[in-house]
Amino acid sequence: MIISQIYFERYWVSYKNSRLTSWGLGAVIIITYFIQEFCLFQLSLFNIGQVVFMQVVSVTMLFRDKVYKIWWALLALTPLFVNVVEYLMGILPLKDWWYWIVESIVFTTICLALTRWCKISKRISYFYAIASLGIVELVSLAITRSFSPVSIAAATLGLFVIAMFEDQRFYSEKKNEQKIKLLEKESERDDLTGLLNYRALSQEINRLANNNEIHNIVIGALDIDHFKKINDTYGHFVGNEVLNYFSTVFREQIHSAFPKHGYVYRFGGEEFTIVVSNHSLEEVYQLLQSIEKFFNNKSIVTKEGMKLTISFSCSLTDRLNDELLDTTLKRADKMLYSVKNNGRGWIVTDQHHQRPQKPSLERKINNNY
Ligand code: GH3
Ligand code: MG
Ligand code: MG
Repeated sequence: MIISQIYFERYWVSYKNSRLTSWGLGAVIIITYFIQEFCLFQLSLFNIGQVVFMQVVSVTMLFRDKVYKIWWALLALTPLFVNVVEYLMGILPLKDWWYWIVESIVFTTICLALTRWCKISKRISYFYAIASLGIVELVSLAITRSFSPVSIAAATLGLFVIAMFEDQRFYSEKKNEQKIKLLEKESERDDLTGLLNYRALSQEINRLANNNEIHNIVIGALDIDHFKKINDTYGHFVGNEVLNYFSTVFREQIHSAFPKHGYVYRFGGEEFTIVVSNHSLEEVYQLLQSIEKFFNNKSIVTKEGMKLTISFSCSLTDRLNDELLDTTLKRADKMLYSVKNNGRGWIVTDQHHQRPQKPSLERKINNNY
């Protein structure tokens, strides 16, 4: 039975991606299962298959496959069909047929209820399901007076073994799921700065585009000025320190000003992207101005005790009507060039096109290196 269960899962997985419709797939599974069960029915000693195991696959799959629950639940009725076929073939008299129906309905209902009961883990609810299957079968055997110690012992042992196997599998699957989630998270982080990376940005853009609860999105493109000079003067390790420091400041500021609505991404190299949803461009602009002031007034002290001042160029733009967020992002990128070509170290927005009047920041920073 365990082998047939494994076979079934492989079969299911390989057909899941095929072009068959859900109905076609369900029909294929039920017919195959039926033929398989019919053979088992004929071959099994003491009709153990008939007693318990025929329903184990359906219970197990009911817990494993969230999407096709009802199809798996229907498999619980196969013993009844097998009985009818055997009766029509003159192999067995059709007796106790209504027990099969009542029994199948009772334990399928229990299992469906257990799959919906979110408070307990999947492992425990599967254990309950297998136990309830055993109890329902015992009651059924007692009523139909086919209660034999050998079949009871075999059924109990069989159920116990299957439950152990499945429990082990739930456990290793859960561990694998956790590992996959962790890897997915890691694949969205930039190793050096710990910021979300370009991959995460693309995904967030898709997510935001399909989210109806979001009414405004501000996108900012940021670039550290003359970063190459830092590398060339102090070396790449110092450059990395600067990138780290810059990222930490931005992440903390954006996260605390716009919790759950503002994110900073490392676009690549010394370029960053900010995405803030459901806040106005003016709010983001104010915050960026304060960060700009912070970097103007505070030097970065490297591990080796060197003091550096950095500035950044930035552009901020809103998503216009229902335009693609890619378009917004490209506009921000294009606007950034106007800052780079007009002195660097300031923030351009859709509303603030002019470079603010202030002492030549560029000269001040250049003197550093
Ligand atoms: P601009 O003001 O025009 O932006 O000049 P810039 O020097 O900042 O820009 P440019 O594109 O000329 O140089 C970017 C430099 O950033 C070149 C590259 O070596 C460096 N860089 C990119 N990624 C990293 C990194 O992860 N670590 C370090 N240390 N440097 C990096
Ligand atoms: Mg730069
Ligand atoms: Mg650059």
